[in-house]
Order: sequence, then C-alpha cells, then structure tokens
Amino acid sequence: MTASQAAEPSSNGRSPHPVSKGPVVQLPTAFGSFVSQAWTDLVTGAEHLAVSSPNPTKDGKAPLVRLHSECLTGDVFGSYRCDCGEQLAYALELIAENGGTLLYLRGQEGRGIGLANKIKAYALQEAGFDTVEANEQLGLPVDARCYKAAAQILAEMGLHEIRLLSNNPDKQNRLATAGVKIVEMVPTEVPSREQNLRYLQTKKDRMDHLLTLDTQTAGLHRTGTDTFDLEQD
Ligand SMILES: [Zn+2]
Repeated sequence: MTASQAAEPSSNGRSPHPVSKGPVVQLPTAFGSFVSQAWTDLVTGAEHLAVSSPNPTKDGKAPLVRLHSECLTGDVFGSYRCDCGEQLAYALELIAENGGTLLYLRGQEGRGIGLANKIKAYALQEAGFDTVEANEQLGLPVDARCYKAAAQILAEMGLHEIRLLSNNPDKQNRLATAGVKIVEMVPTEVPSREQNLRYLQTKKDRMDHLLTLDTQTAGLHRTGTDTFDLEQD
C-alpha cells in the first residue's frame, strides 16, 4: 500500500485523494500484451484497474490515456444501447499500438448512478425519454462521476501530461480541475448504430460531446494513426 494519505499536498494546493496500489502483473489480451495494476480508492473502496502498454509512447509524445467508466452492459455484453464496449476495444487497440494507459474506473456505471438505476433509466428511455431526461425523472444526476481518484492514480503513475482519449469536454474540464494536464484530446468516436443513434445524439446535443455521428466517416478521422478502421456492419 502506498501512503498517499500522508503525502504532501500537490502542486495545485489540494490534498491528494487517498489511493493504494497493488503489484504490476502481465496481462496478455486479445488486444495485445499489457501490464496491469489494481488501484483502490481508499475513500469509496472502489477498485480500479490500470492497463498499460509495456512499450514507451511513440515519437516522444505525451502518453495516450483513456479513463473508461465501467459499463457492464456495453463492456461485457457488447450492448448496442451505448458505445462503451466499442470505445473500450478501440482505446485498447490504440494503446497497444501507440503506448499509453487505460484506467478502468469501476463504480461509475451509468455515469455514476449504478447498474440498477441505469436499467431503470433504460426503461424510461423505452417510454420516450432521452438519456438526460431519464436520469432527471429518477431524481438522479445526469453525470455523477468523480475523477479525483483517477487524477491521483495518474499522478502516482507519473502520468502528469497526457493525451486524453475521449469525446467528452466535461471529462477534460473535470480532470484539469483535478490537476491533470491534458495536452491533446484524441477522439474515440466509433460508428453509430441504429440502436444507439438517439443516445449518441443526446450526448452530442445535451452534453456537448464531440461527435460527428456520421456513420460513413466516424472512425476514419479518429486519431494520429491510420491503422484502425472498424468494419461497419
Ligand atoms: Zn455504456
């Protein structure tokens, strides 16, 4: 266990969010060979997982970092109601190729409202509400995620300046507030689908996500590399 509880306040004057880390282990996957390390948020008890390329970042650029919020339905079952699973796969492919780290943040299901509430929100969406209205109908925040632990984990991993793999400017702003310097936003837009088009349109219109929602071009302009063009099915 690290002793971040006892650490000095960070340069931005905030006390560090207490986290502890475990050993670094090998993690061979379908997306490439990674190294992995578990981190525990000592305030909430949430256990997060860092998955990193063992190779240095190419061209001396700041490392690619994806903060991926847990989405059981999308990540595990490949649900098309959202784009989480495809974004996860795409980010891992990019990190395997270019170096970097994916921090898998657990306890952030449904933008922080939990799995059961997310499924309730799905029921409301089937009754005609959009993803923002559904959370509001449930009396829940539209986005309850907190990135203080993530920022502390990045700091303890030495990831002080990053290229953030995200379409979400709010995530960029919240991380910056938490003391993470983002030198570039690298889009992770994956082709939209009939089943998630309304959800993605709401993220674009009501949460300012940087999405084109062009099924022909999404995925072709995504990064500095040109090696990943997902098949459109
Ligand atoms: Zn999802």
